[in-house]
Amino acid sequence: MNNNLAALDKRNIWHPFSPLQGGIDPILITEAKGVYLTTGDNRRIIDAVSSWWVNLHGHSNEYIADAIAAQARKLEHVIFAGFTHEPAIQLSKNLLSILPSNQSRIFFSDNGSTAVEVGLKMAFQYWYNQGIKKSKIVALDGAYHGDTFGAMSVGERGMFTDPFKPYLFETIFIDFPTVENEEYILRQFKDIVSRGDIAAFVYEPLVQGAGGMRIYSTAILNRLLEVAKANDVLCIADEVFTGFGRTGKLFASDYCENKPDIIAVSKGITGGTMALGVTACSDKILQAYQTEDFLKTFFHGHSYTANPIACSAANASFDLLMADACQQSIQHIAYQHKQFESEIKHHSRVSVVRSLGTILALEIKTDARTSYDNEIRKKIYPYFIARNILLRPLGNVIYILPPYVITDDQLAVIYSAIREFLDQLDR
Ligand SMILES: *Cc1c(COP(=O)(O)O)cnc(C)c1O
Repeated sequence: MNNNLAALDKRNIWHPFSPLQGGIDPILITEAKGVYLTTGDNRRIIDAVSSWWVNLHGHSNEYIADAIAAQARKLEHVIFAGFTHEPAIQLSKNLLSILPSNQSRIFFSDNGSTAVEVGLKMAFQYWYNQGIKKSKIVALDGAYHGDTFGAMSVGERGMFTDPFKPYLFETIFIDFPTVENEEYILRQFKDIVSRGDIAAFVYEPLVQGAGGMRIYSTAILNRLLEVAKANDVLCIADEVFTGFGRTGKLFASDYCENKPDIIAVSKGITGGTMALGVTACSDKILQAYQTEDFLKTFFHGHSYTANPIACSAANASFDLLMADACQQSIQHIAYQHKQFESEIKHHSRVSVVRSLGTILALEIKTDARTSYDNEIRKKIYPYFIARNILLRPLGNVIYILPPYVITDDQLAVIYSAIREFLDQLDR
C-alpha cells in the first residue's frame, strides 16, 4: 500500500523546495500527535522544527480540532467583502489584545508571504493616498520575507531568487546588525532614510529565521526604528516566524520600545493547523485610507480571506497560548535551551551557539578543505531522520524550535542526538 502511495506521489506531486531529481524521497506521514509524526512504516519521528515553524501546541491538538470541526459544521466559509462573521471578529479582538498597543486594525490573508505583501502594499499606498512620492523599501541583508514577488523583492537575493531577478523591484539593503558594526549600520541607515524617498523599512525583528536563525540585539533594532520614525519612514515588522511566543515574548516587537506601524503574522497563528495570514496596522496607517475618495480604498483581497474555520482554529490556539501552562512551557524551553547552549558551545565542532526563547541554533565548524557547507547539510538531515528526529539544517546551521508541548525528556533526546552528531564529526 505504502509503495503504491510513494509511486503516486512521485508521479503526481511537486514538493516545495525539493528538486525533481536527485532529492530525497518524501516520508509518508499517516498521523501525528503531540511532538510525534507517525510514518507509514510506523516509526515515530520527533518534530523538532514544528513542521516549518508553524506548530505551537503539538500535532492534532484535540481542543483546536474540536473548534475546527464545530466551525466546519456551522459556517465553513463566506465571502468577506460585504459580509462578516464571529470567528473573524473574535480573532481580531484576541489579536489586538496581545499585539503592541499601537496596533488598531486587522487585515486577513492566507499565509506569511501574503501577509507581508499586504503590509508592503499598505505602506506604498499610504504615501500614494497622500500624494507623497516615496517608492523605496529598506531591508536587512539576509532577510527572508516569503516567496511571492513582493516578498522576494524585499528579501536577500541569491540562488533561490536568481531566475526571477529581472522581475524583482529594487530594494536597498543594509548590513545585518552585529555588535561590531552597530555604529556603522546606524550611519548607513541614516544616510539612506534621510534621502526622503523611502516608503518603509521591513525587518524580521530580532531573529532572521530562514537566513540562518541569526539573532541581533534589541538595542540596535530600537535605534533603527527610532531613526526610521524620525525620518518619516514606515516600519513593517515581519513577525511571521517570531510571533506567538517563539522568541519568549508573545511578539519579538515586545522586546523593543519603538513599535512598528505594520505587523505581519502567520505561521503559529492557528497553532499550525490551518493556513492564515494577518497584517495589523496602526491608526497612523488607517488615517491615509479614511476618506470619501473611493479610489483611495485598499483594493486587495483573497478568495479565502478570513476563512471562518481558520479563524476558529486561531481563536482556539489563542486560548491555549494564553493559558499559564503554555506560557510556562515557553519559559521552560527557553531555560533548557540556555543550559544546552552553555554546555555545547565548548564543543570543538561548534563555532557559535545562539538561542532566544524557544529557538536554539548552532553553527557547525566546517573544514573548508574537506567539507563544504552543503556537504555538512546533506549529512545532517539523514543523520537525524535515521534517529527519528526531524531537523532541517540551514546550511551549516542546526536549529531546534519545538512545539511548546515538548517535554524535558523529549528535548533531552534531541540535545543528545546533536551531541552525538557533533562527536562523530570529530572521529
Ligand atoms: C515563513 C516566512 C514567511 C513566509 O510565510 P509563508 O507562509 O511560508 O508564505 C515570511 N516571513 C518570514 C519571516 C518567514 O519566516
